Amino acid sequence: MTLDTRIEAARDDLIALTQDLIRIPTLNPPGAEYATICDYLDKRLTAAGFETQWVRAKDAPGDSDAYPRWNLVARKEGPNKGECVHFNSHTDVVEVGNGWTKDPFGGEVEDDRIYGRGACDMKGGLATSIIAAEAFIAEHPNFSGAIEISGTADEESGGYGGVAYLASQGFFDPARVQHVIIPEPLSKDRICLGHRGGWWAEIETKGRIAHGAMPFLGDCAVRHMGAVLDRFETELYPAMAARRTEMPVVPEGARSSTMNINSIHGGMVDLAPGDTSLPAHCVPDSCRIVIDRRYLMEEPLEQVRGEVVALLEDLKANRTDFDYGLRELNVVIPSMTDVESPVVQTVSKAIHDTMGVDPTYVASPGSYDQKHIDRIGKLKNCIAYGPGELELAHQPDEWVGITDMIDSAKVMGKSLEKLLLPGQS
Ligand SMILES: [Zn+2]
Repeated sequence: MTLDTRIEAARDDLIALTQDLIRIPTLNPPGAEYATICDYLDKRLTAAGFETQWVRAKDAPGDSDAYPRWNLVARKEGPNKGECVHFNSHTDVVEVGNGWTKDPFGGEVEDDRIYGRGACDMKGGLATSIIAAEAFIAEHPNFSGAIEISGTADEESGGYGGVAYLASQGFFDPARVQHVIIPEPLSKDRICLGHRGGWWAEIETKGRIAHGAMPFLGDCAVRHMGAVLDRFETELYPAMAARRTEMPVVPEGARSSTMNINSIHGGMVDLAPGDTSLPAHCVPDSCRIVIDRRYLMEEPLEQVRGEVVALLEDLKANRTDFDYGLRELNVVIPSMTDVESPVVQTVSKAIHDTMGVDPTYVASPGSYDQKHIDRIGKLKNCIAYGPGELELAHQPDEWVGITDMIDSAKVMGKSLEKLLLPGQS
């Protein structure tokens, strides 16, 4: 047999595996069923000859005895020395939401599609990497090096209970792992080189409470925030829109710097539903916003922070009674793997060999676990490559294409051949 015929022959197995994974409702939040899915992966990969290791991210955000953050790392050594290729998939899925016509945890198959929450993001990718690795091992039992497959927690909430924790424990040490492929749903003919950075902060403007009928005796924090938002509109947004990155970010709009204002709150707290109280009349003494600033590889984090601080400081110097607080909530560094890196070149050739096309190189507007492999693991040779359409992620009636999974499995299998069989690249 050839690798391709083995993968084609595993079609029913691939469908059943994807369905089984979808049927384990690993919702995050709260971080449910991680042990169940690790147990499933453990049995499957042990049967395929892998050594498995369970790793709990003790005391990571959200980790508790009710919702333990379990991760599974499986490793299969070949009989000869060589490099290690690691496939990393997150096992968590986001909430179901409204608008479904299929059972979100049913794994329904219709035509060439498997439906369910997590079908494309990213249980289909996880199943694809397992089928590819199993076919490769069966076809080339005497391979050199090692294959690792991990199923990790909490990617959808930042990855601190998953890849970040594993990286902090040395699992992505470049001495141990040389190539990382993350089968996120970027399409079977695209290679994702990395992602933009993120900076999240809360800004508070401060005022002084007084009677609403005599606002001149107080100081309205909401009006101060209005002044901040006005400066964002007239200065910061135009400046961000003018910056363009060399990163191949998709969609096109995300090739500039962007900022979302996640929330705004000032004054009296919202009444509980059903509470018919009328508002008391007060001048608000505090107003808060949360900003979600996505930045480019070309922008130093210090500049991203600095331009917001400078704008606030300028208001403080020039606007009567203006005072503010700034609380940083989280930072994600941008990550971008060089196109000439071995994993990029290898997967690129494998895509060409399988589908006769050259891959499109893309970068993600948001982020995924590559940030932890880069910053904590210090491992640069990492990409996202997997079946499925990114636009379907987190949507109702999410699905993954069966033919797409088969093609991606061939690409992954051929990549293993190029990296783990001497003289094959
Ligand atoms: Zn994902």
